[in-house]
Amino acid sequence: MIVNADLHIHSRYSGATSKEMTLERIAYWAPRKGIKIMATGDCLHKEWMKEIRKCIQIDEGTFVLGETRFILSVEVEDQQRVHHLIYFPSLSAAESFREQIRSRSKNLDTDGRPNIALRGEDIAAIAKGVDALIGPAHAFTPWTSLYAYYTSLNECYGELAEYISFVELGLSADSDYADRIKELQRLTFLSNSDSHSPHPVRLAREFTQFEVKQPIYQEIRNAILRKKGNGPVLNAGFHPEEGKYNESACFSCHTHYTYDEAKKRRWKCRCGKQIKKGVKDRISELATYIQPQRPSHRPSYVHIIPLAEIIAKAAGIRTPFSQTVTKRWDELIRAFSNEIEVMLNVPIYELMRVTTPAVAEAIQAFREQRVIIIPGGGGEYGQIELPGNDAILTVSLGPRDSQTSLYDYT
Ligand SMILES: [Zn+2]
Ligand SMILES: [Zn+2]
Repeated sequence: MIVNADLHIHSRYSGATSKEMTLERIAYWAPRKGIKIMATGDCLHKEWMKEIRKCIQIDEGTFVLGETRFILSVEVEDQQRVHHLIYFPSLSAAESFREQIRSRSKNLDTDGRPNIALRGEDIAAIAKGVDALIGPAHAFTPWTSLYAYYTSLNECYGELAEYISFVELGLSADSDYADRIKELQRLTFLSNSDSHSPHPVRLAREFTQFEVKQPIYQEIRNAILRKKGNGPVLNAGFHPEEGKYNESACFSCHTHYTYDEAKKRRWKCRCGKQIKKGVKDRISELATYIQPQRPSHRPSYVHIIPLAEIIAKAAGIRTPFSQTVTKRWDELIRAFSNEIEVMLNVPIYELMRVTTPAVAEAIQAFREQRVIIIPGGGGEYGQIELPGNDAILTVSLGPRDSQTSLYDYT
């Protein structure tokens, strides 16, 4: 069977997350987004763990709430500030890991994404010891990522580099970017939302589609390891240009620079602040190949845009969090079951029966890849524009423009 999975989110026990990040809210939105399997995030946090335990447990590593299956995951920050994603086979494995890092973490009880005063290699060894999978999170972002501080998996994971089975691409990169780097060719690419809010603009804005026999942890594990006929069959996510760190840009005034310009200026913006190296430029520095070399196991990558963004654009509404947008989004989801269906599969003439012509046309423009993307950088998300309609407002994808609300989280 084919399942869609979003394997990186944060609970309300992590910093800067929505209060709405409860298992109930996630289990409400996930099926509407078309997602069957969610990773819990934050599974070393005691309070979040208590809530996970209340779900129906169908095997050692799989929990059910409503239609949604949850597997145990956490993101941790190592002593070099590199973020790692870890997937556990069972509660006891997560608990054993927790015990082993407890003396090295000061915020284990207060932050869902704990800091651990250990090297990546040590953390990977502990993960391996409890039979968990581990790999770098949002591997190319200019802060808190493996390639922000290192030039190879070996530098970070040492002898454990071979144990790494996946890399998370992050919102500012796609498979074509990562397949320019030779050492990543053997790894499975994960596309995940890293969402801090359950709102459908954020949750599952990136996801990975897997071939599995059942929607349970062990099958997802086999899919990440590409064993027993399981494997990833599709990555779906932002156009890399939509990401906050796609191009090199000042993190204060958001002026964009080419790589050469930025280098000439010694990564100092004309405003005096620092230019953050974009993922595009970082990958070019690291690249083994000028053109991506796609290994035979690599699935396609489909570029998606949240439906609420498309609706907001088509309706000329400034924020995708508005009530009108939510109403139109609901109409479509009620008629066609989930967002992935609406965005990718339902024929346009059927969409027309339920929604406005402008929304249907915008979805068509998206499918025909006619949507214009203005690249993000320096911490500011990219922007999308519909083709051939100057009257339509530009909706910023970034939190700066959206109103302060529960949904004001990345
Ligand atoms: Zn992170
Ligand atoms: Zn600046």
